[in-house]
Amino acid sequence: MQLLDGLSVSKTIKLELKEQVEKRKSENKKIPHLAAVLVGNNGASQTYVNAKVKACNEVGFDSTLIHLTEDISEHDLLFEIEKLNLNPDIDGYIVQLPLPQHINEKKILLAIDPMKDVDGFHPENVGRMMLNMKTFLPATPMGIITLLERNNIETSGKHAVVLGRSHIVGLPMSILLQRNHPFGNCTVTLCHSKTKNIEEICKSADIIIAAVGIPEFLRGDMVKAGAVVVDVGITRVNDASKKSGFRLLGDVNFEEVSSKCSFITPVPGGVGPMTIVSLMQNTLASVEHKE
Ligand code: NAP
Repeated sequence: MQLLDGLSVSKTIKLELKEQVEKRKSENKKIPHLAAVLVGNNGASQTYVNAKVKACNEVGFDSTLIHLTEDISEHDLLFEIEKLNLNPDIDGYIVQLPLPQHINEKKILLAIDPMKDVDGFHPENVGRMMLNMKTFLPATPMGIITLLERNNIETSGKHAVVLGRSHIVGLPMSILLQRNHPFGNCTVTLCHSKTKNIEEICKSADIIIAAVGIPEFLRGDMVKAGAVVVDVGITRVNDASKKSGFRLLGDVNFEEVSSKCSFITPVPGGVGPMTIVSLMQNTLASVEHKE
């Protein structure tokens, strides 16, 4: 078994991005600027946003964090979005999900300028992805494809099973894996909570992408020998022995599955860091596109 080391690949990509920023500086070109909108004080959301801002600093991007209170009205949030749309210095921005209950996520998503939608969640960008046109790909599935690519994992003709059909991970993952692309061309089965015989389906997979949000959902007896396993899940479980009071668990039982598969991502240090660098890559692509 070999580790699909997302942390290490992400470090390489950050160095590449840093070099590109330095080159842009030397050519007096615009420095990419990513903004993040965070509403409320959800601990996990704060951690993710902080990691994105930190990554911007590491590669030399400009970054802006807009932290709004939990009780902000939908109207006022839409006003903040409009300001970001109109600000020529912002090349891309994200609105960290989930949003508080009183805010309609779809309404916010639709208000984002598709040209600045570096998360790739706007319906226009989702449509472009479906049609295999140039667009911002959603960061997590994009990061997974990059991870497969940088590890030279053959995907063409393979049976890929994606567990979970969320709009941000599972569904776009299934689309990217089936497209006509050097790291696509899979035959894809997309599973969800109503899928029957999920164990049998998983056992027939050459590649499994687990994104259900249920700790250790994928067990050793669900995986065939030699499969490639990507664990997207991150669930915080209480752990009094940790300073933070919690530890992170993936959707894969690492101990059982790692002894059978050919490649596997660790949690943490697998998909998470790849998601962040994909966002950076999209932000750079946004500036380049404008030029
Ligand atoms: P989500 O929106 O909650 O979607 C979960 C999906 O899993 C749904 O499609 C659901 O099916 C399916 N599911 C639930 N129980 C199932 C079962 N017993 N059998 C088969 N499918 C089942 O979650 P998400 O946003 O995609 O996130 C999934 C996990 O990835 C979470 O742990 C999240 O924290 C993590 N994540 C990590 C990153 C990263 O960068 N590493 C990024 C995003 C998310 P239905 O549609 O039928 O309900």
